[in-house]
This record gives sequence, structure tokens and C-alpha cells, in this order.
Amino acid sequence: MTPAAGARLTLETPVTYLKGVGRRRAELLKRLNIFTARDLLFHIPHRYEDASTVQQIAKLRVGDDATVIGKVISKGILPTRKGLRVFQAVVQDASGLIEVGWPGQPWLDRQINQDDVLLLSGPVRFFHGRQFAPREWVNLGKDADGTSGGRVLSVYPATEGMSVKVIRGLIEAHLDVLLPQVEEYLPAWMLTDAGVPSLPVALAAVHRPVSLASALAGRNRLAYEELLFVHILHRRARQLAAEKRDGIAYVNKRELTSRFREALPFQLTKAQVRCVREIVADMCSDSRMHRLLQGDVGAGKTVVAVFAALLAMENGYQVAIMAPTELLAEQHARTLDKLLAPLGIIPVLITGSRSAKERKLAATRLESGEPLIAVGTHALVADGTKFAKLGLAIIDEQHRFGVDQRRILSEARGAAIKPDVLLMSATPIPRSLALTMYGDLGVSVLDERPPGREPVTTALRPESAHGKVFAFVNRQIDAGRQAYVVYPLVEESEKVQLKAATTAFEELTSGALKGRRVALLHGKMPADEKDAVMRSFRDGSLDVLVATTVIEVGIDVPNATVMLIEHPERFGLSQLHQMRGRVGRGAGLESYCILLGDVGEEAMNRLQVFLDSEDGFEIAREDLRLRGMGDLFGERQSGVPTFRVADPIKDEELSEVARVGAERILAEDPELKRPAHKMMQQMLVRGYGRALEMFRVG
Ligand code: ADP
Ligand code: MG
Repeated sequence: MTPAAGARLTLETPVTYLKGVGRRRAELLKRLNIFTARDLLFHIPHRYEDASTVQQIAKLRVGDDATVIGKVISKGILPTRKGLRVFQAVVQDASGLIEVGWPGQPWLDRQINQDDVLLLSGPVRFFHGRQFAPREWVNLGKDADGTSGGRVLSVYPATEGMSVKVIRGLIEAHLDVLLPQVEEYLPAWMLTDAGVPSLPVALAAVHRPVSLASALAGRNRLAYEELLFVHILHRRARQLAAEKRDGIAYVNKRELTSRFREALPFQLTKAQVRCVREIVADMCSDSRMHRLLQGDVGAGKTVVAVFAALLAMENGYQVAIMAPTELLAEQHARTLDKLLAPLGIIPVLITGSRSAKERKLAATRLESGEPLIAVGTHALVADGTKFAKLGLAIIDEQHRFGVDQRRILSEARGAAIKPDVLLMSATPIPRSLALTMYGDLGVSVLDERPPGREPVTTALRPESAHGKVFAFVNRQIDAGRQAYVVYPLVEESEKVQLKAATTAFEELTSGALKGRRVALLHGKMPADEKDAVMRSFRDGSLDVLVATTVIEVGIDVPNATVMLIEHPERFGLSQLHQMRGRVGRGAGLESYCILLGDVGEEAMNRLQVFLDSEDGFEIAREDLRLRGMGDLFGERQSGVPTFRVADPIKDEELSEVARVGAERILAEDPELKRPAHKMMQQMLVRGYGRALEMFRVG
């Protein structure tokens, strides 16, 4: 189906028909999600460089992240011991020269030639001296003048075998034909509110930047649209859920809940009272609850969840509490045992490791429909586990469950009743970000710590203090306490010269912790082995647990008072904070979080925030600012929107403007049916498959 020669190039033309794109390039473009001319036009630079961002080579220091422009004065391919071939070049500017290394990319030898001027950006590493490790680079060509020539350079996302230069060339070659075919479809008032140019202007500005400012304004138009669409979808999802009225309308009888409140040995925090109120209101409405309860470690989420559970029970319903591991499920069961003892309620623990007899007994109770609280792992929703009257599902550490598991539980297969769903997360994120990421859920935030929690003494010690630090750990063990020692990696990697947990474990057991009961825990161990190790640590038959980050969301061991973290610079601040939350949980025991290692200046500045603060929200905000969302919304975190252009943290204000815009337009035209909104609705449907269901045509 080759179009006739001279056929008009439209936005829908597949890239294979574009000048300069053959079969091979079409394949490579696919990797960048570029299938049509439109996709190419909307493949926009993720960064810009101009003279103001370029640094002098002589001034680069190890640890810097920099952009330089230099001429290639020598180059070659270097084999390494591991058989990896590294393309290396030496580049020079007026101030000096630096070696540049591209591991595993020997083919660059054909693309980069002597005297080519390169624009490079990336980190400066230590490797036989300073070495530049480009994350991105642009070949400005032979004997370019060594400056960006006053130009603003657009840097596009590229892929192996298809350089930024090729992509820029392809876009440039088709821009004049494609741009006139683009129309704005957002209402003018939105563009005004957001302070962004119209779509055609924006696309021209991002691809042919005349100034950094205009390029960024153009980029903001595209970011705004992404944020707007996500907010529209969130809002619409909630509207539809509310209209369905297919939930249980609980009645706030204040029977079990009031008795529970009276029996609590402490006063609820204001935040707890607020969250309980939000949840109760949600549960008492006749639409289903889909709510996220988020709060820092130790903020008291469990107590809040219990109120929800008791409200369900006093209405005659069953409650399922689901944890990501058996150990966490057991821990929940024990905590609930204690909390609910005054009410005479005993939670039913259902895990894979219970005996057949126990499970059968539990199953009978679930099938009987009697009001109860069942605690377990995904075994709770496995075949054979049938709740006759499941009214509320509480899912702890929701990000550790896949979307499917969440859906299965919340739909309680085959059941006539649709249970309310409360998701809990210990990753504190700012409210505005939570609304962008989870706006289709109700969001309750526990942003206050219960009083009386012992602060954890936090300190950073240099490698030279290794002996002293372990002497301290030994004194704690002598006093009957337990300790965690955390390492960032499991296997020794040649490139990253870090002590791996395994090697360290051997060193420690024959050295600093000789004679102590030490066990190793790492992510590659089979689940049952992990479980067994955690159990012995919990039961006090181990003094020290040497671990990788698997303990991040681990169990409570009140007797553990030391959290020792090696190579702290390798962790995100929020991860460190989660780990610190593992200690200081005991009754009045002094606890310590010790970061051990020689960290650079940059890392030091970052870690300072963690050393100075125990506020998870503050730490998360700083983490997000410095490292982006990768750590908090990694691949594991399915079910949250992803953005190509927008950055929900950096674009926090824009996202708020978009949220208000979404509200206004849906108030005017809930299904975006008006002629003026038709094209926007189509774009929404095109961009988001999910939208199809929500904006069904006709
Ligand atoms: P999270 O699950 O949010 O990490 P928990 O629910 O485990 O926190 O609570 C941490 C500890 O604080 C528990 O021992 C709990 O009993 C206690 N706690 C909860 N709320 C309060 C409160 N309002 N006042 C004092 N202690 C509280
Ligand atoms: Mg908890």
C-alpha cells in the first residue's frame, strides 16, 4: 500500500514513508514509540543546551554532572578484561582536555571522527583520572567553532543505533510540511490560565528553539495537556464511580468504633481524626470507596484502618486486610490482636503456611458470613477462599501489589457485594503530587506523628571510623539489643566498586562481628529462606541481620536499636528514611541510625536533609526534587499515570492549574460532547485507551 508518488504527507503517514527512513530506521523509531509522522512531530526534546549551560573542561571535577563542547583529538576502541569494548575519545576545548568513555558502544568509532566537535553531557567519573561518561551527546560536525554558536541545541531522547543527530535531522526535514496541519484543540481560556502558547506555536518553538525561554514555554504547552488529560480522567473516573451508587451504604452506628476509641491507651492525633472522618464519610455513602491512606512510617495508619474495619463489622460485614508478605501479615495479625483484645475480637490469620486444618476452619468462618477481620497475603483472594460477605478490603503497602491483584480483591469474584477498598502506603508524598498520581482515588494524608515517639539518633561516620562504629554495635549487642547492617548491592560488580552484602557478610563474621549470631538476607534468596531468617531475627535468635534493601518495608523488631547503613550515598533519601523507620519502634529504647562511608560533597549535601529531619514528607519532597520519581514510582508501582513531557514534581504548579481547568471543563461539559470540545475529546481518547470506556461515543 505504497502511497502514490507525491501523495500528501499527513500526520497519520507511517514513518516508513518518510524521506530518510528505511526499514531499519523504522524499526529503531518504533523503540522510541514513533510509528507515524505525528509521533515524530510529538517526539520533543527533553533538554536544551546553549552557551550558558556549557562548562570549561579544565574546571570539571569528579562527581560533577556537566555539559561541555570539545573537539576530538584522538579516539579508539579499548577492550576490557570482561570482553566489553569501550569506545574512547579525548576531547579538548580552549581550557583543557578530558577522556570520554562509551562502554559497550564500539560502533561509535564509525560515527565520531577526528576533529569532530562534540557537545557532551553527563557525569564526570573517576577512572584513571577524570573521565567523562556522556549520557547524551551531539556531534556538531567537523571543525565546528567549538561553541554552540549562540544556538540553542535541542537534545532528543535517542536510542542505540539512532543518534540524537539523526532524529533531529528527520524532524527538521519534515517540520515545514507537518506543522501547518496541526490545530489547537484546547480552549483559549485554558492556554491563558496556564500561560502557554497554542499547539502549533509550541511545536515550532520546541523543535526550532530561538531562545531557551520560548522552547520551555512550548514544552509547557505539551506538559499542560498531559497533566490536564490525567486530571480529566481522574475526575471522570470518580464522577462515574459516584454515579454508579453500587457500594455499601454503611451506617455509622458508633458501637464497635466508639468502644474501640474509648479503649485506646492514647488520644488520636488530629490527622488521624481527620482521616477517620474522611473514610467514614466515604464508607457511609452509597458509592464504593476507593481511597488511599498515606502516611509516614509510624504515623499510625493501622489504628485508622481499624476504625474502618470496625465500621464494616458493626454493619455485619467481613473485612480483609492484605499484606505483601506472610511475615507482614502475621505482624498485622499480632498488632490487631492487641488493639482489639478489649473488644474481644480476634482476627483470623490466613496464610499459605497455616496448616490445612487451620485453613479449613478459617474458610468455614469466611463462608458463614459472620462479621470478622481476616488478615493474610494474596492467599486471601486465592481460589477457595470465599468471603460470604466481604464489605471492606484493606490493602497495605499497596504499591507492592500488581493492579491485577488489587482488582481481584476489590471485585471479590462472583460476589454480589462490591467491597469498599482502602489502600495504605507508607511512602509519604506531597498532597499535590498525590492528587496527580492517584487522583482517581480519594486521598487521605496522615501528616502528623503521634507524640511520644523516641527520636532516632542519626549520624554520618567516615570509613575510618569503621572500627569504632562496630565496637558500638557490639556494645549494643552486649546490652541485649539487635542491629541491622545494610548494604546497597547483592553481587560484587566490577564497575561499581562497592562492598556487596555477601562479601561484607563474610568479612564481618570473621572480623568485627566474630562470635555473634549473624545472618544474611538478600533479595535473590528464595522467599521461604528469607522468611526463616526474618523470623529468627524477630524471635531474637540472631544478633545482627546483614541485609540489602529487602528490609525496607520489613517487620517490626522492637528490640533492634541500630540501623547501620553502608554506602549511604547509593540510596535515595526516602529509602534511607524507610530503613530508619525500622528502628526506634521499641518501648523506650534509644535507637541509632548510622550512615557509614566516605561520601562526596554533593552526596553530603543531599544526605544532610536526611540527617537533619525525621519528617518523611520533607525528605520525600527533597528526594523527588533531586532524583525525580524513579524511586518512588518505579516499575513496581503500576497503576499510576506516566508522563512523557510533564514532570509532576517540577510542574507542580502547572499541574494545579491543570487540575482546576479539568474541573471547570467537566463542570461545563461532563462528557466533552460539545462541538467545541470534540477534537479535544478525540485526542484524549487517542492518548489514553482507558478514556475509551469513560467517554463512550453515542
Ligand atoms: P504506621 O502503620 O503508620 O507505620 P502504626 O499504625 O504501626 O504506624 O503506629 C505506630 C505506633 O504508634 C504503634 O505502636 C501505635 O500503637 C502508635 N500510635 C498510633 N497512633 C497513636 C497516637 N495517636 N498516639 C500515640 N501512639 C500512637
Ligand atoms: Mg503499619
